[in-house]
Amino acid sequence: MTDNNNQPIIEFSNVTKRFGALTVLDDFNFSVAKGEKVTLIGPSGSGKSTVLRILMTLEPFQEGKLTLAGTSYQQPNGKGAFRASEKHLRQIRNHVGMVFQSFNLFPHMTVLRNVVEAPVRVLGIARAEAEDRALDLLKMVGLHDKKDHYPSQLSGGQQQRVAIARALAMRPSVLLFDEPTSALDPQLVGEVLSVIRGLAHEHDLTMLLVTHEMRFAREVSDRVCFFDKGRICEQGAPDDMFGSPQEARTKEFLSSIL
Ligand code: ADP
Ligand code: MG
Repeated sequence: MTDNNNQPIIEFSNVTKRFGALTVLDDFNFSVAKGEKVTLIGPSGSGKSTVLRILMTLEPFQEGKLTLAGTSYQQPNGKGAFRASEKHLRQIRNHVGMVFQSFNLFPHMTVLRNVVEAPVRVLGIARAEAEDRALDLLKMVGLHDKKDHYPSQLSGGQQQRVAIARALAMRPSVLLFDEPTSALDPQLVGEVLSVIRGLAHEHDLTMLLVTHEMRFAREVSDRVCFFDKGRICEQGAPDDMFGSPQEARTKEFLSSIL
């Protein structure tokens, strides 16, 4: 579901990202329409997480421009690593939620507090209202009855579902998933994918997903992008990308993973 009349909600224009001598993104261009569900696939080390981390303002970049929901960040002089001001960073972060491979819940907080804390502290929502909303989200991910548990009392799949509820509690317009099922035992993958599948039906939510679950990617994505060495080597509709990839590198990657 895309809305082509609007500006893209995410736009990388000629972004270059280096770690020391290593160029991870090289003159990178990429845009995502509001409401679009995009999957990034590609070999380990190709720069997929870096793209998500830049969007989440966890990484600076050296050259180019990033626009997110109408706010732009640009490296002014091509020198050094660009980091936006705190005010800009907050503006960006308010639009973006991220779900990591390793859940990253606060271990000393109950499930409910994990979901409630940021809306109260960052958005200034009244605690009672934030709790109501958190309970709705926990219901949505099927963990209403675990609200008073601590993360260590939950399975990995349950922790990841709490992490998704926590990200949604901030009402992001863009939700990023970085290999959300890679750390899970195989029997727990399905419950997390089914929550993400439900979110993929939300028309307004823009989703950017890095995953090795190719069947799932084919099912939920509007577009699949194959990354290789810091560039998008090939992209297209899932049926085309998985059914008839054009580039040799894409074919090689898909045959290695499927
Ligand atoms: P992917 O998610 O596709 O596996 P990443 O974006 O994590 O790839 O990494 C891209 C490249 O950047 C890799 O070569 C990785 O080793 C390197 N890299 C990532 N983070 C850092 C860092 N903090 N310092 C130095 N190199 C890094
Ligand atoms: Mg990664």
